[in-house]
Amino acid sequence: MEKERTFDCLCIKSIDYKDNDKLVTLYAFGEGKITASLKGVKKAKAKLKYASALFCFGKYYLAGKNGYNNVIGCDLTDSFYGIWTDIDKYYPAVCSLEILDKIADDREIGDKLAVLTLQFLNELCYKSTNNFIAFAKFLYNAIKLTGYNLQINCLNCGDNNPDNFYYSYIKNRLLCGNCHDSSAVQLSKNVILFLKSLLNGEIEKSEFDNKTYLSSIKVLMDIIGKNLAKRFKTFDEYFLFYNKMNNYI
Ligand SMILES: [Zn+2]
Repeated sequence: MEKERTFDCLCIKSIDYKDNDKLVTLYAFGEGKITASLKGVKKAKAKLKYASALFCFGKYYLAGKNGYNNVIGCDLTDSFYGIWTDIDKYYPAVCSLEILDKIADDREIGDKLAVLTLQFLNELCYKSTNNFIAFAKFLYNAIKLTGYNLQINCLNCGDNNPDNFYYSYIKNRLLCGNCHDSSAVQLSKNVILFLKSLLNGEIEKSEFDNKTYLSSIKVLMDIIGKNLAKRFKTFDEYFLFYNKMNNYI
């Protein structure tokens, strides 16, 4: 007997499979990650084509047995179409999906992170006036969910107002000018101001240049990657897109 199951799902990964099919990874609320196939959706008139697209959020109907799932229906809630049509929204959005994909196996925080991700996609798609700030907020909230406590002081001596702060790629934390190690890179005053306003919840009121946004985002991404001991392909793509990877921090 095939068992039919229904979940509210967000499509977080989609790859081509056989000639006309797609294989998707869905984040199912209350259940975690599910891999499922969508048959024939690469054909021009396929009815469920939308359900195989990244960011698709809706009620998915799954059928299958022995751990094999087939998507047989989907009531669409939102496809977040506006993200597909704006590359400055698309790149941070795919980063958020990869973070969810890699953290979702931890069932303790999977659903919470999935909610954060949906809120982020919603903000990017409909509300955001500054995609960098929206993205930094999402990254910071994801960091907090993983249990990491970002602190603006020197890990070694505790100084919270040194002349210069450095970010250590080995220790994954901030160090002062006296304590920094060889892996540490100096952060600009603006990056420290940005991170402080992020921590204080005052980031919406602030305004910085793109260089500050990208340097800060790079630090936040590094914290996530080191914390999870995972490499994020989409983070590299994000910086390649801005084509400035080597110019920042
Ligand atoms: Zn120090």
